[in-house]
Amino acid sequence: MNIHEYQAKQLLRSYGAPVSDGRVVLRAEEAKTAAGGLDGPLWVVKAQIHAGGRGKGSFKEADAGEKGGVRLAKSVEEAAEEAKKMLGKTLVTHQTGPAGKQVNRIYIEEGSDIETELYLALLVDRVTSRVSFVCSTEGGMDIEEVAASTPEKILSFSVDPATGYQAFHGRRIAFALGLEGAQVKQCVKLMGQLYTAFIERDMEMLEINPLIVTDKGDLKVLDAKLSFDGNALYRQSDVAELRDETEEDPKELQASKYDLNYIALDGEIGCMVNGAGLAMATMDIIKLNGAEPANFLDVGGGATKEKVTEAFKIITSDKNVKGILVNIFGGIMRCDVIAEGVIAAVKEVGLQVPLVVRLEGTNVEQGKKLINESGLNVIAADDLKDGAQKIVAEVKG
Ligand code: ADP
Ligand code: MG
Repeated sequence: MNIHEYQAKQLLRSYGAPVSDGRVVLRAEEAKTAAGGLDGPLWVVKAQIHAGGRGKGSFKEADAGEKGGVRLAKSVEEAAEEAKKMLGKTLVTHQTGPAGKQVNRIYIEEGSDIETELYLALLVDRVTSRVSFVCSTEGGMDIEEVAASTPEKILSFSVDPATGYQAFHGRRIAFALGLEGAQVKQCVKLMGQLYTAFIERDMEMLEINPLIVTDKGDLKVLDAKLSFDGNALYRQSDVAELRDETEEDPKELQASKYDLNYIALDGEIGCMVNGAGLAMATMDIIKLNGAEPANFLDVGGGATKEKVTEAFKIITSDKNVKGILVNIFGGIMRCDVIAEGVIAAVKEVGLQVPLVVRLEGTNVEQGKKLINESGLNVIAADDLKDGAQKIVAEVKG
């Protein structure tokens, strides 16, 4: 689960991290009061969307102005003006995809005088099964370019969970970032605060880009991106409250309400599969046959008819879906339950696209019988390969 920059900064502030003072604005009328509550002489007006690259982004609407999603203002009036221009408009960045994201919240922040922009991240490294620090002197808006062309400028190391964060970790980062004197101490303290927040709040990723050195020589968190482990939200109720559902894919949101493991993708073949491994294999074999999956979906082992019905409805609600492949290897999941769910969903929402069904395993005969007797226009497949070839042939004509 992701949260907005202003929420991330509030959370990090509660751990003692140095962040600027700022106000969030939801409606244009609030902008002037919000900006007026902050000290100038510089204000920064920042579009709040769950995507990075805002500074270099651009708006779809011409009246949002030429500048990107992060704007400097030299007066309260100018700050309010920029906030108004951006609210409700669609910001496109390299992370939003061409459709962009609507800006429903603006963060107005006190401007900082920047000496240097650094990069700092904490993440769960799946290779080492540990939390890793990642840092670079080359912070700012081009970090992807740095990673691609000069990866030697990025330092990464993991923290032993048995010891947790130690001052030497912080010093290692400070020296890699070229910090000196009092900044080293500040860095050791800040890294400890970030590490504690990361562990205590079950984060998956924490990215500060840029972490800056101000003209006064102090460290400051200028941008913050946090994402949390969705499986731990049950014990992070105050984090869960920060969820902004308008930022999420409506299909994924619906799926999460039914506890379905669903990820929306860009392709044309909707997939309903049980088991994450089989779902991955299904996506692979669709690709192998020359088409692209529209989603990842693992309905899980103990799915009920209602859950299967919902899953099918979510797949068919995707306008890009030109065909559906149901691929079930019944173990704990029973083929007749899948068949009942698919039949119920089709009765409810209809079937506008070809449907290939491959059933195998527990109660397969009952499942096939139900589908045959339902009168549904289903193309039966014998195995995974056959199923993929049939659905691709249907879709690609
Ligand atoms: P994004 O990463 O989405 O582009 P950032 O928050 O990193 O957004 O802002 C982009 C750039 O804008 C920063 O690299 C920094 O140079 C500048 N900036 C952001 N916030 C401030 C601020 N409070 N004061 C001065 N400059 C800022
Ligand atoms: Mg940034």
